[in-house]
Amino acid sequence: MKNSILILTAFFVSLGVQAQFGKKLLKKGNVDAVKKVTKAATLSDDDMAALSIQSVQWMDENNPIAEVGSPYGDRLAKLVEDLENEDGLQLNFKVYEVVDVNAFATPDGSVRVMAGLMDLMTDAELLSVIGHEIGHVKLGHSKKRYQSAYTISAAKDAAMTNTAAGKVLADDQIGGFVENVLNAQFSQSNESASDEYGFKFLVKHGFDYHGMEGAFQKLADLSGDGGKGALTSSHPGSAKRAARAKEWAAKEDAK
Ligand SMILES: [Zn+2]
Repeated sequence: MKNSILILTAFFVSLGVQAQFGKKLLKKGNVDAVKKVTKAATLSDDDMAALSIQSVQWMDENNPIAEVGSPYGDRLAKLVEDLENEDGLQLNFKVYEVVDVNAFATPDGSVRVMAGLMDLMTDAELLSVIGHEIGHVKLGHSKKRYQSAYTISAAKDAAMTNTAAGKVLADDQIGGFVENVLNAQFSQSNESASDEYGFKFLVKHGFDYHGMEGAFQKLADLSGDGGKGALTSSHPGSAKRAARAKEWAAKEDAK
C-alpha cells in the first residue's frame, strides 16, 4: 500500500504557501489581497459547503478508494451501516487504501478512514476515532480550519471571485488548499471537546465505549516508538487522553 498523496507532499506544499503568503503581505499597498483576506474571514455557509465538497472530491480523486466488496470497504461499511444521519449531519464514508494512520471528517459530512488506521485498530477503537472526527465537524472546529486555510489561499490570489458556480477555489488550487486544511492543528481544547463528543457518540449508539481508551493507548505507543502518523502528531498527549477516556468508561460502567 502507498502513502496518501496528501501526507507525502503536505510538508513541502505548506512551506511553499507560507513563503508566498509572507511575500504578499510584505508588499506595501496590496489592497486587493487585503480585501480578499477580509472576504475570506466571512465565508458564507454556502461557500463553506461548496468548499468542503470540492476538497473531498479532490481527496477522493487523488487517493485509492477501497471498492465495495474489498476487505477494507466491507469492514467499514459494516461498522457504520446504522450511521447515516448523525446529529443532523448527513454522513458518507470511504476508505483510502493508504498506509497512513489517519482519518478525517469534513463539514459536508464526509468521513474518510485510512487503511493504516484500520490495520492498527479494533472496530470499537475505529468507531471512537470516527466519533471524534465527527465531533470536530459538529463543534465547528473544522469550519474554522477551512476558514483559515481559505484565508491563505485568498492571500495567494487563488480564491475565485465568483462563487455562484459552487466552486470557491480554482481547480488547480484545491490540492494546496486541502493540504493546508489537514496540516493545520486543532487546539488542545478542541481535541478535548471532540474526545468528549466521541465518547458520548459511542455511548449513544451502544458501541463499546472502552474503544476510545484503546485507540489513544495505541496512538501513544505509536508515538513512543517514533511513529509519526498525522493523527498522532496533530493529537498530542495521547497517553493522557487514554487515561481520561478510561475514567469516562469506568464512570459509564458504574451506571
Ligand atoms: Zn482531533
